Amino acid sequence: MTRICRHCSSPLGPGIRLCRACGAVNDIPDLDWIECEHHPTEPAVGSCVVCGKPMCGDCARSAEGLFFCEDPEHRSIFLGWTIVYEADSVFEADMISKNLEQAGFAVRQFDKHRHNGTAWITERLGVPVRIQRNRAEEALQLLRSMRLLDDTNKPEG
Ligand SMILES: [Zn+2]
Ligand SMILES: [Zn+2]
Ligand SMILES: [Zn+2]
Repeated sequence: MTRICRHCSSPLGPGIRLCRACGAVNDIPDLDWIECEHHPTEPAVGSCVVCGKPMCGDCARSAEGLFFCEDPEHRSIFLGWTIVYEADSVFEADMISKNLEQAGFAVRQFDKHRHNGTAWITERLGVPVRIQRNRAEEALQLLRSMRLLDDTNKPEG
């Protein structure tokens, strides 16, 4: 049976708790719950779709069915910036960001591994590299020309 997100009904891979589409935390029996970054005794219900910060019901902000943290910039980043590269590690994301910055692009990169509640979880947490939407095509062309973009790192959708 395919698991789906309790919040947005997107399919979830085996063992995945953080929905990539909306940020909702989906509990799995027998696994420790993910804690709220501000209230470690409270279970997180969602993680910011931009920075990945895990938050309880009191801390999470939701907008159009997505979870955001309290940083108002993150909502505008989600709307105005697009993912051009999905790195497997912080090291790889740093390398991509550095190349883009050297070519004059503004880059935003957030890392779920830096949040206490999600740092230890075993599921794969990609490190998305974001660029302003209006320059995304240019950025993708640059990464392609440098042979840095392959099928596994293509942004979704
Ligand atoms: Zn979801
Ligand atoms: Zn955030
Ligand atoms: Zn909280």
